[in-house]
Amino acid sequence: MCYTDVTTHADGTATAFCNCGWTEEHPSHAAAAAATDAHHDAELAYS
Ligand SMILES: [Zn+2]
Repeated sequence: MCYTDVTTHADGTATAFCNCGWTEEHPSHAAAAAATDAHHDAELAYS
């Protein structure tokens, strides 16, 4: 089971990460949040 979250940085970029070890850098919080949704969808496809 994946638990994702997003950390927004002072420069406006954001890091999407997950308790499974997955992480991605994104130029905005919205992009990072979308990436966490995509990660969840990918995870569900396996189960
Ligand atoms: Zn994950």
